[in-house]
Amino acid sequence: MAIQKGKTEFLMGIDQVEQLATWLGEHPATHGVAFIGRSNVGKSSMINAIFGKSVARVSKTPGRTRQVNVFKFLWQPVGQPVPQEFFLFDVPGYGHAEVSKEMGRNWQLLLDSFFHSVSGKVLLLNLQDARHPLQDADLQFQHYIHQFELETYLIFNKIDKLKTQSERAELQKQLPDIYKKNKWVKQIYFASAESGQGVQPVVDGMMNFLLRP
Ligand code: GDP
Repeated sequence: MAIQKGKTEFLMGIDQVEQLATWLGEHPATHGVAFIGRSNVGKSSMINAIFGKSVARVSKTPGRTRQVNVFKFLWQPVGQPVPQEFFLFDVPGYGHAEVSKEMGRNWQLLLDSFFHSVSGKVLLLNLQDARHPLQDADLQFQHYIHQFELETYLIFNKIDKLKTQSERAELQKQLPDIYKKNKWVKQIYFASAESGQGVQPVVDGMMNFLLRP
């Protein structure tokens, strides 16, 4: 029961609302997963850890950093004779301050339209940094995303960086607050894209979502 690594294929980058509408019109059964997080949280690393090395590299190339990058991936569930096809959406990181006003408005419209259109069909995987949970940018994003009622899993990445006892205790201390502030989130994971620790449970969670009729 695995994603077919090496078979994840970049389809296109979407940066206009009309383009998104056309693509969605052509793909009415848009079943898949979307990754988002503050820039540098390790989103590309996590995508690569799950889908195979360097899948997310395309999203980091110049011109693609402000697009919703769409991939398709293959996954063969147990008992299925042929692999099934799903979509992976790599949504650019939030927390960029440098976006111009015009571009910012355009971008906001695109994201509103994207999240509204895929709600119910796409699982949102929101990454945060295990060393710095509940940052302002993360809380603002969560406040924003709430309205779309997407099923959301939260992944605290970089747990390998919590090396000392006191760093781990710090996260433990924040757990009640993390759970309280994220009651609307379906699952919370702690993982490391770098070491691979905790990645399989994320994959299992994704698969459970994708298998639901
Ligand atoms: P993105 O901007 O969210 O796509 O982040 P990247 O995947 O490019 O990662 C940003 C930096 O964090 C890179 O230097 C990665 O090597 C590093 N990184 C990503 N995930 C982990 C992790 O789980 N542990 C550690 N220690 N470093 C990580």
